[in-house]
Amino acid sequence: MTSLAALAGFMVGAIAMMAVRTRAGGEPHPVEAGESALPQGVASVLAVLPSSAVVLDRDDRVLRASSAARAFGLVRGDRLMAAELLALARQVRRDGEIRESEFEVAAHKFGMEATNFAVRVAPLGTHGQVLVLAEDQTERRRVEAVRRDFVANVSHELKTPVGALSLLAETVRAAADDPVAVTRFAGRMEHEAARLTYLVQDLITLSRIQGGDPIPTPACVPVDEVMHEAIDRCNTRAAAKAITLVAGGTEGLRVWGDDELLVTALRNLIDNAVAYSPESTRVVVSARPAGESVEVSVSDQGIGIPESSQERIFERFFRVDAARSRATGGTGLGLAIVKHVAVAHGGEVSVWSKEGSGSTFTLRLPAFGGTALAVPSTPIIPLEAAQ
Ligand code: ADP
Repeated sequence: MTSLAALAGFMVGAIAMMAVRTRAGGEPHPVEAGESALPQGVASVLAVLPSSAVVLDRDDRVLRASSAARAFGLVRGDRLMAAELLALARQVRRDGEIRESEFEVAAHKFGMEATNFAVRVAPLGTHGQVLVLAEDQTERRRVEAVRRDFVANVSHELKTPVGALSLLAETVRAAADDPVAVTRFAGRMEHEAARLTYLVQDLITLSRIQGGDPIPTPACVPVDEVMHEAIDRCNTRAAAKAITLVAGGTEGLRVWGDDELLVTALRNLIDNAVAYSPESTRVVVSARPAGESVEVSVSDQGIGIPESSQERIFERFFRVDAARSRATGGTGLGLAIVKHVAVAHGGEVSVWSKEGSGSTFTLRLPAFGGTALAVPSTPIIPLEAAQ
């Protein structure tokens, strides 16, 4: 709205300036254009406006409409389609006062049902012309709604372990005379505190990368090192379930990126593969060149993901089975982090999964130097893990 206000102010001001200049300097062209023509200079300003702009003549006919105004369905032929907007324009023409408003148009653009606009309507020139500037608010509203949801979700997620900790503290106090019970409850307190720590760590990571900005200082990152580092960090959890972690594929590949973020992303994928697999199975992490990209995939023999949920698993806090995720210490943020890391690298993450058979997550990242180095594939080598 502020930018619209500034713009409308600028346009009205510019026209006033032109009028003054003409009177003083006696320019050859009339400053106030003919009744149905646009005041001088207005057309070129309108042409560079990103927002929808419409100029109406004194009979409510559209003299000029930006392509955005037509694409949104605000204007058809020489008519302004939104009755509410037309009423506002007439009011402005009557009393010469600039007005602001917000309203919805049931117009269709790219399949959207309704578009929410912030509008500013100002008188233009002295022939009853009116300028309507409308800015699409749909995206801003969507972002606001997502932010509100996120804050509500974070509060809820934080409340659970904090509530559990305070209950456990009370229980420990009540069981002060029973050392066995105290030890047991202290263990559960440690577990809840760890959950809280993971959640806060994931939130910090997510807030660092979710701005959609590319990573600030990309470097050449050897994929083997990222794979081994990520596998190393997951070894203990895998060992606890007798899951074998296996590294394989093409060696010597390099990508453009931030090694710490890439390790974080891959560790999240491996952690999930371990968390959602039965005991004594295998998780395979492998890399391969793919044209100008490198693909790193993590495959498990776990429970799989129902097809209906596969699109949503990359959303923050989405879980197929909330109870199972909590039981495995999940924060619901792991895959959102993976997605944002991939996007920040100019890459993407995809999933293949079959319920009961397993899942494969694939990170596709731009290769260092533009082309993935093709070194012959090496056989898959089980790491010292975890039998
Ligand atoms: P969480 O912390 O709950 O694991 P994620 O964002 O990492 O959160 O994953 C979101 C959801 O996707 C999980 O709760 C789980 O339902 C599902 N999921 C992720 N990875 C796998 C996998 N390898 N196998 C089966 N389900 C998975």
